[in-house]
Amino acid sequence: MKNVTGHCVCGAVEIMIKEYGNFVYTCHCDTCRRMNSGPVLSVDPGPKENIEFVRGKEAITIYQDEEVERGFCSVCGTYMYWHNPERNHYCMNAELFDEIIKEAAFNLELFYDMKPAYYSFAGERKKLDRNFNEIKND
Ligand SMILES: [Zn+2]
Ligand SMILES: [Zn+2]
Repeated sequence: MKNVTGHCVCGAVEIMIKEYGNFVYTCHCDTCRRMNSGPVLSVDPGPKENIEFVRGKEAITIYQDEEVERGFCSVCGTYMYWHNPERNHYCMNAELFDEIIKEAAFNLELFYDMKPAYYSFAGERKKLDRNFNEIKND
């Protein structure tokens, strides 16, 4: 997919990913869950060169979470992205991007050891713990 755009609930912020496949992953860490009322589903567009803020960058509020920035729309509150400036790496809320989630391949769960027992996703996929070690047959 090329030049795929996504936006927050109110539309104040629009973001374009220049090039992407259909890969979606989830994160079960406590910060993502608290911020999003559950495990966040994300896309991984990588470096800032692969992203363009089409509209409303000034509407994004950054929460500095140790070495990473978590950006959300200050108008509607939608969680937008996680950004590690040192590594030049973005991960974004997959649900911003209608075109990507239409054909999404959901194939990775991160921080699986932090997942509370009350929910699970159906189906099999790769699961990594907080140290990025693979979890087999949980
Ligand atoms: Zn918004
Ligand atoms: Zn997380």
